[in-house]
Amino acid sequence: MAAGKKKKGPRQLVGLQCTECKKHNYTTTYNRNNEILKKQSGEKESFPLSKYCKVCKKHTAHKAMKKLK
Ligand SMILES: [Zn+2]
Repeated sequence: MAAGKKKKGPRQLVGLQCTECKKHNYTTTYNRNNEILKKQSGEKESFPLSKYCKVCKKHTAHKAMKKLK
């Protein structure tokens, strides 16, 4: 019996955390493979993202927290 199912998909659920107040504001999914491709082709990565933070009351940079379950 496997208690925890492991899903091996390229899409990961991550939390977005405000880099200023450290509050966790958003949850998003991102495709890890896309990020790797972006890196390889010299494109900008998706993170940090500019998002509106309710606590800071302005747009701040949000970085991805470790993947959620
Ligand atoms: Zn904030």
